[in-house]
Amino acid sequence: MFNVTPIAIYEDNYVWLIQHQGKVCVVDPGHAEPVIEHLQKNGLTLDYILVTHKHWDHITGIAPLKQHYPLCQVYGTGHEEVPCLEHALLGGESLDLMGLTWQVVHTPGHTLGQIAFYVLDESGQGHLFSADNIFACGCGRMFEGSAEQFQASLASLVSFPASTLIYGTHEYTLANINFALHIEPNNTFTLHRQDLCTQLRDEGKATLPTTIGDELKSNPFLRWGQPDVIRAAEHHKGAPLHGPAQVFGEIRLMKDKF
Ligand SMILES: [Zn+2]
Repeated sequence: MFNVTPIAIYEDNYVWLIQHQGKVCVVDPGHAEPVIEHLQKNGLTLDYILVTHKHWDHITGIAPLKQHYPLCQVYGTGHEEVPCLEHALLGGESLDLMGLTWQVVHTPGHTLGQIAFYVLDESGQGHLFSADNIFACGCGRMFEGSAEQFQASLASLVSFPASTLIYGTHEYTLANINFALHIEPNNTFTLHRQDLCTQLRDEGKATLPTTIGDELKSNPFLRWGQPDVIRAAEHHKGAPLHGPAQVFGEIRLMKDKF
């Protein structure tokens, strides 16, 4: 059984804890104590750490975890500075970890060196650890890459099957939905999602994982081909836009100022 649990850290980050065939892995441990506490409470040790990119809220826990669990192996982006990195990944690799085959995808845009991890479990369910690429109804900020790079990265991630579960690293969903409805006020799926996610947050639950299918129906950063989204982007720009990257870039700019 492939089992994934969110460990909430800081204001709105998640460290994803993965268990499969008796092995334990965490993705982007930005803070060690909550992870150690969770592992101890559940009688677990740590075998692997996966790291998508260099930002402090994704890497700060690595060194202390490595100290606490010296046998655990650190896999992460080789494009950036990652503490204790033992297996540098550039994208395009497949890894055999926890009895499964993982695909590494290089996804420049949020940072230039960010990678994401995709794995298919034995039931045929896909799991995408999307880092700061795709959030529920949103995407990461464009700190380093160009709109062309970021849009191409997102396009490569959403080419996995629609049923794929997406584990983003931030609980920004309700704010993202507000923005999505600003872009597409008549999107009934997003309106339905707002009710659902409001209820989940009221119950103190995570709104993640999401799925590629749900994101394609409601995430304005992935809907660069939709007439309403193109219209909103062109209205903001005050000029015609040409192609997915330009539409995406304008929507990203609108969100930065929203
Ligand atoms: Zn980041």
